[in-house]
Amino acid sequence: MIAIYPGSFDPITLGHLDIIERSNKLFDTVVVGVLCNPNKTPMFSVKKRMEQIHQSTQHLSNIKVDSFTGLTVEYAKLLNAGVLIRGLRVLSDFEKELQMAHTNKTLWEGIETIFLATNKEYSFLSSSIVKEIAKFGGNIDHFVPSNVAGDIYHYYNSDHQ
Ligand code: ADP
Repeated sequence: MIAIYPGSFDPITLGHLDIIERSNKLFDTVVVGVLCNPNKTPMFSVKKRMEQIHQSTQHLSNIKVDSFTGLTVEYAKLLNAGVLIRGLRVLSDFEKELQMAHTNKTLWEGIETIFLATNKEYSFLSSSIVKEIAKFGGNIDHFVPSNVAGDIYHYYNSDHQ
């Protein structure tokens, strides 16, 4: 079965990577789908985020990295994927994620959303928190893959801001 793990991944964190590694054991193929959202101004381009994910998942087989725009269910139909994977950290995630799962199920009966509970080590971790720490000069080495940490440090030391 093909499963899609959709998200912004701006950038990928060790929390995301943990979900990818665990999904990899559950499904034949896991497609990490980077959402291209024209309403958001990301830190990294979709191309860069895909490259970061690709580099961070070199040790895994049957992982594909892709990008998409528009409705996730339309993307799932296109790939013939019957499962969406989402991660749950805190109660507020649950409310948002359940609403999304019900919406997707209403749009397409053929889709199932499977939630994986965060690894307790990463329950506090989000892309935004990592960016906030790095912005104020904190150490993010324990929160993101090393290639990504390098990209974030470079971002804040260049004139991107
Ligand atoms: P989105 O903008 O779609 O929420 P994110 O990149 O922030 O995209 O997250 C993608 C998915 O990964 C979401 O289901 C989110 O709850 C989950 N996730 C993010 N961080 C973690 C973490 N530390 N542990 C487990 N799941 C996580």
